[in-house]
Amino acid sequence: MTKTPLLKVNNLKKYFPIKKGLFGSTTGYVKAVDDISFYVHEGETLGIVGESGCGKSTTGRVLMRLIEPTDGIIEFDGKDLTSLSQEEMRKTRRHIQMVFQDPYASLNPRHAIGKILEEPLIVHGVTEAKERKKKVREFLEIVGLSEYHAKRYPHQFSGGQRQRIGIARALMTNPKLIIADEPVSALDVSIQAQVLNLMQDLQKEFNLTYIFIAHDLGVVRHISDRVAVMYLGKIVEVADSEQLYEKPLHPYTQGLLSAVPVPDPDFQKKQIIIEGDIPNPADPPTGCTFHKRCPFRMDSCMKVTPQLVEQSTGHSVACHLYVSEVDNDIKQLEGSL
Ligand code: SF4
Repeated sequence: MTKTPLLKVNNLKKYFPIKKGLFGSTTGYVKAVDDISFYVHEGETLGIVGESGCGKSTTGRVLMRLIEPTDGIIEFDGKDLTSLSQEEMRKTRRHIQMVFQDPYASLNPRHAIGKILEEPLIVHGVTEAKERKKKVREFLEIVGLSEYHAKRYPHQFSGGQRQRIGIARALMTNPKLIIADEPVSALDVSIQAQVLNLMQDLQKEFNLTYIFIAHDLGVVRHISDRVAVMYLGKIVEVADSEQLYEKPLHPYTQGLLSAVPVPDPDFQKKQIIIEGDIPNPADPPTGCTFHKRCPFRMDSCMKVTPQLVEQSTGHSVACHLYVSEVDNDIKQLEGSL
């Protein structure tokens, strides 16, 4: 029997209007998230990777409805989150929590850590102060801190400790899903490994499901079961972690992986260098939006948008280099050129 995913996202879109002129009329849209679909099973980690501006962080916020989606379905634990009222959504958020990139910015500098950790419990109706304090002590220890840290303020901690506090805060309401948005990007490399190990231990202990957002494929490698690569608002490749790193199909994924240092000299020979910057999302290139930076582009790439098509079990790619259902369209188009 196939397991039902904890989170199933269908055709999710977030378009931000571009307003111009005295009357603020809409002249176009930035398609920050443009028709993406994916799923995450309970206890699994899905990595979402791409350069800054690819829509990965917007995706995380839209999933929690911190930003309202333009269209699409977000099915979490059997409920479509897009159909919930604000009040129902607020209650549901105890099951979906976020860990942010910059824990310092997300922790109130005027509040002691104990108070910061109690807040989510108060929001979600834990009225007994004694119970809240007990839970604060428990979770400080779970993330490798101590009871006495509850009286200290955010500025008295190192970056790594602050991220441990951010993780503890996310855990306070016993969530099922944690969306971690670049949780280790602001930390020193040596501290990154400690925080990643902690997240993996917590996942096992509490059967957590993670969406782990990062700009670097190296960071998500060991924590992710599957990885989705985003480019200009779309998923261009998704696969099991092992498959994606062993046999990346999309030229963009190959380029991202070339930037990750590996000890294997043979791999280095296959380097794909991605040139140029990510295009203006308000005016994306036609056809495959990666075509201006792609070393393998063909004429058809500029005219036909590649669809995400499964190439082998669980490994899908959106690129005309691979056999896909749009091949016939391309061939026809090339024939008419
Ligand atoms: Fe490159 Fe064409 Fe594939 Fe886009 S569709 S990634 S331009 S080969």
